[in-house]
Amino acid sequence: MTMLKIENLHAEIDGKEILKGLSLEVAAGEIHAIMGPNGAGKSTLGYVLGGRPGYEVTAGSVTFDGQDLLALEPHERAAAGMFLGFQYPVEIPGVSNVQFLRESLNAQRGSRGEKPLSGAEFLKLARTQADGLGLDQEMLKRPVNVGFSGGEKKRNEMVQMGIIDPKFAILDETDSGLDIDALRIVGDGINRIMRKADKAVLLITHYQRLLDYVNPDKVHVLADGRIVRSGGAELALELEREGYAGVAA
Ligand code: ADP
Ligand code: MG
Ligand code: MG
Repeated sequence: MTMLKIENLHAEIDGKEILKGLSLEVAAGEIHAIMGPNGAGKSTLGYVLGGRPGYEVTAGSVTFDGQDLLALEPHERAAAGMFLGFQYPVEIPGVSNVQFLRESLNAQRGSRGEKPLSGAEFLKLARTQADGLGLDQEMLKRPVNVGFSGGEKKRNEMVQMGIIDPKFAILDETDSGLDIDALRIVGDGINRIMRKADKAVLLITHYQRLLDYVNPDKVHVLADGRIVRSGGAELALELEREGYAGVAA
């Protein structure tokens, strides 16, 4: 069943068109990788789907579980089950990681009419997820991402995803700055949390290496604001060998 359907999406920032007629369909149970050269519009796609201010959709449509996604506010998109991981996770001085995670989760539970988790219930959940990702428990008490290494930020993002337990995750360069061990841990985390029949993932990545751990059902090449080529997992290997220039042309 189709979970996310993007049709002829055009979007601009500051009057500059970045997405130029992008179409893409993701079914439940699938992991799709989006690859493509720098500046192609990959992060823009993530931001537009997340509803980040400043990105104007000028044409096209996006449905999420049959709902008009573009009509929803960012927090409504999150409550509907959409999760966004960013290329550069934000630092939030003065707010502890547990506070932040608990508030995010409870806000979403609230908008679905579910009761908030107590501090103790939440801490148990957070510890289980941190253990699963090999993130030191102490990191949960520290201010969000402040002074975290690149690898710690990414693990933290996976802990956040495990806690939120979204239906659909858009992960933008989750592999950037990770060493081999961290890459495996993050890959295992994506599989454990998101490889489910009723969930789906858009995995934005420059390199094939994360796909050694998270085997995509489909791979798409995004170039100059459109999907210019789609294939199976083998397309990522072809891109790695031949570069974008040959494949996307
Ligand atoms: P990718 O993630 O594929 O590397 P991005 O989506 O980050 O690409 O950027 C796509 C294009 O949009 C780039 O040419 C970039 O310079 C441009 N861009 C991004 N943000 C802005 C902005 N605020 N104003 C104008 N152009 C922007
Ligand atoms: Mg980039
Ligand atoms: Mg990017």
